[in-house]
Amino acid sequence: MTVWWNDGLPFACTQCGKCCHAHGEMDKVYVSYRDRTRLAEHFGVNLASFNRSYTRSEDSGHRSLRFVDGHCVFLEGTVCSVHAAKPTQCGTWPFWEELLVSEETYRQDVMDFCPGSNAEGPVVSAASIRQQMESTEEALD
Ligand code: SF4
Ligand code: SF4
Repeated sequence: MTVWWNDGLPFACTQCGKCCHAHGEMDKVYVSYRDRTRLAEHFGVNLASFNRSYTRSEDSGHRSLRFVDGHCVFLEGTVCSVHAAKPTQCGTWPFWEELLVSEETYRQDVMDFCPGSNAEGPVVSAASIRQQMESTEEALD
């Protein structure tokens, strides 16, 4: 299937931390059961304790990370304090299906906001983008 990002897209995170803040309709970081298990292990606590301390339940039935002062509870300065165990959707941003639906959407919701998406290379291949899109969808099934 040919897509507008068939030649891949340049991306190199600058660690500015902007995507860890609530912005517009993007004000949630969903955490799957697998994400929460990994994060609970990272902190050396059981899942129930992790859920209580760091997450909130959403009407959709999913859980999301708590936000404090408009940003994710795990943001320290501009850096993720749980980088090695961060949620799937954090690792796959900005290669989410809803953001890649059209070039215009990607430009408005990603390029106008995320400096890493305007980087001059390296180019993330279409195969890698597709795989990251699928991982994001699977994590929230
Ligand atoms: S907004 Fe972009 S460059 Fe900034 S931390 Fe997020 S992914 Fe990285
Ligand atoms: S878990 Fe880390 S990368 Fe994800 S939103 Fe929170 S601080 Fe940012």
